[in-house]
Amino acid sequence: MQNRIYNFSAGPSMLPLNVLQQASEEMMNYRGSGMSVMEMSHRSSWFESIIAGAESSLRKLMNIPDNYKVLFLQGGASTQFATVPLNLMTGSGKADYVLSGQFSSKAYKEAQKYGDAKACASSKDANFSFVPGVTPDMIREDADYVHICYNNTIYGTRFPAVPDTGKVPLVADMSSCILSEPVDVSRFALIYAGAQKNVAPAGLTIVIVREDLLGRAKPETPVMLDYKAQADADSMYNTPPCWCIYIAGLVFEHLLAEGGLEVMQKRNIEKAAILYDYLDSQDYYKAAARKDCRSLMNVTFVTGNEDLDKQFAKDAAAAGLVNLKGHRSVGGMRASIYNAMPKEGVEALVAFMKQLAADHPKA
Ligand SMILES: *Cc1c(COP(=O)(O)O)cnc(C)c1O
Repeated sequence: MQNRIYNFSAGPSMLPLNVLQQASEEMMNYRGSGMSVMEMSHRSSWFESIIAGAESSLRKLMNIPDNYKVLFLQGGASTQFATVPLNLMTGSGKADYVLSGQFSSKAYKEAQKYGDAKACASSKDANFSFVPGVTPDMIREDADYVHICYNNTIYGTRFPAVPDTGKVPLVADMSSCILSEPVDVSRFALIYAGAQKNVAPAGLTIVIVREDLLGRAKPETPVMLDYKAQADADSMYNTPPCWCIYIAGLVFEHLLAEGGLEVMQKRNIEKAAILYDYLDSQDYYKAAARKDCRSLMNVTFVTGNEDLDKQFAKDAAAAGLVNLKGHRSVGGMRASIYNAMPKEGVEALVAFMKQLAADHPKA
């Protein structure tokens, strides 16, 4: 019935099949309401229970402490690049940024508009092939926060552990790794994530923010970007992205039913190992990320020959393995293997890689 292919897109990306099926069954008439979730007033009791249910499932899934607010916002992770400094760069007006890839660099550039943003560590000179180490002595003691990108979607790297920033609050962009493994939320002042990598359709941004950081926004902050205004309105200062929140809620319930984030982590480690073990066992392909900070979600590799890389993406697509072309700043290939990518998809990819290497020996 489905004829589904293995979609390795970095985002928007695969969603769990049973969530798509449930959404399809509920499309015309959501649970006896006589209408689709797309057609509902966001002020209706139907939608109120959808958004409250989604929040409560996410709290359970991530074990979010009570002193954190969960916000369902719009504008993508990129809007957070400005929202974070507007709300938090308001004590000393300083913030330290770890540059580990393109998104963290964009966040840094945006923050420079709003105060004294400083790059405290960077791996730019190595084309972001690793995540720079961060220790408390690298951070300005009076900084309002330190910003990191926990998983670097384009380069296929991740922080091997939550960095120690001493007393300085830690802000993390988790767009491409949220829900892939358990995280200790209490180590972070704020976590944000665009939903379209591992959660839901594009259009929803999740923000998890410690309550004591609310109410400090710069006076010129647009009300839509003011965390406190959004928290006071339960994410409904205006019409929220209703459909995305509904699908996110289904995904959260699905993950809880599967056994939660420990189970996801176990599966994700297993899936990534299938690829990395193969990459390390041969020399036709080369993994692009340094071994100690390889991502579980985005696996980057090159053949070292641009024509072969092109051939790879084209032949893979013909074999039902799509969106494997790497980002232009790394070249080669990138396999994004979020929660919804089944192990069989990764196995099929490795089988394809072996076949291509056999069919196209290097000169
Ligand atoms: C995709 C991505 C972004 C950009 O997300 P948008 O929702 O498109 O703004 C930012 N950071 C990371 C880590 C990403 O993977």
